[in-house]
Amino acid sequence: MIPESLSHALQNLPQSATLAINQRSIALQQSGRKIYRFGLGQSPFPVPESVVEALRVHASEKDYLPVEGLPALRQAVAHFHRHRGDASLEASGILIGPGSKELMFLAQLSFSGELVLPSPCWVSYGPQAAIAGRQVARLMTGSNSNWRLSPEQLDAHCAKSPDTPRLMILNYPGNPDGDSYSSEELRDLANVARKHKIIVLSDEIYGLTHHHLEHQSIAQFYPEGTIISSGLSKWCGAGGWRLGTFAFPETLYWLRDAVAAAASETFTSVSAPIQYAAIKAFELGPDIQDYLTHQSRILRALGREIHRRLNDAEIRVRPPVGGFYVWMDFQSHEADLKKRGIADSPSLCESLLQDTGVAILPGASFERPKTELTARLAYVNFDGDQALKASQAIPLSSELDRDFLEAHCEATLEGIDALCSWVSP
Ligand code: PLP
Repeated sequence: MIPESLSHALQNLPQSATLAINQRSIALQQSGRKIYRFGLGQSPFPVPESVVEALRVHASEKDYLPVEGLPALRQAVAHFHRHRGDASLEASGILIGPGSKELMFLAQLSFSGELVLPSPCWVSYGPQAAIAGRQVARLMTGSNSNWRLSPEQLDAHCAKSPDTPRLMILNYPGNPDGDSYSSEELRDLANVARKHKIIVLSDEIYGLTHHHLEHQSIAQFYPEGTIISSGLSKWCGAGGWRLGTFAFPETLYWLRDAVAAAASETFTSVSAPIQYAAIKAFELGPDIQDYLTHQSRILRALGREIHRRLNDAEIRVRPPVGGFYVWMDFQSHEADLKKRGIADSPSLCESLLQDTGVAILPGASFERPKTELTARLAYVNFDGDQALKASQAIPLSSELDRDFLEAHCEATLEGIDALCSWVSP
């Protein structure tokens, strides 16, 4: 029985789906089952050694830091964005948080208006809005638009109530789909956002995991209305370090101040040693550049091979261009799956896990209708440290081949094959 004193917003809120599947996979593994852990989107790569060394050197930093973040780190993050050509951001526009997730929550809490979410989208945006009591407009995409938002769709939605203040979270390269927007698409979306005065919270946490290192920010086209969200979790392999960044343009300093005030009453400041170490990461020195080059080469080769195998099994996927996800559409297997008693995405994932040990997350966790047969797979169950070292020994002039993947990402390919055989027995 749920006590009446439990907050209404939290009464039916389960733990985040990604964390739950991870716990379940660990428990099944401990019971002796072979589990292919494609559930939690955790980077398989190690934190670069120079960043770990910077953490060692600063382990004795013990003072509280300013709520907005360590000044030298804010400088480094602003420089990082300027250098990448994202926008001409100043250090004063940077906020450092314990993960971008927490900053996103505080931004939702601080902003009064409608939250616009293209669907599918990351698991936590919607639940955060529910906790903050925010109204959400879900803009449903589909396979016909490659699961991505079109400017026309956004325009049509905003035209219905032009005076509503809006915050839209746009994530690319994307979780759950591993896809992104082209420069033209970003420009067109930016034009609609400007027309309707939408604040864009541009979730670019996977920016530097772009498989060709060609990520571009919508801030280039809409600097005055874009907040860029980034952090160490994905491209720097440091999810557990909990460091995220927001970059505000001067026009949105009113929102920066509100988020900083909320932060000052909640987390105070991010762990000091982590902030000192993060400077090294955001400086993007030669060793980090090398790390990024090889990381993207491995993800590119693996993503391509997974796409090929899934396509052969008639599981529809877009070729991934960033991050470590594929978004699978099992529509063409609908009739066969129904005969096996599988009619929605949670039962698809549950049967798959029980039958094969392959752990993936249902489309329903990503703001999709339950009966749509979609799911996300995170191809992260390999030893990233070993794969990086092996890639570094191979000249960059060649792509990594199937032998490389069989040698260094064996469990990943084995799990993909198990999934394909299960779908078409
Ligand atoms: N945004 C997306 C799309 C994510 O996938 C994640 C983590 O999985 C986050 C934000 C949050 O990352 P962090 O809080 O570790 O910075």
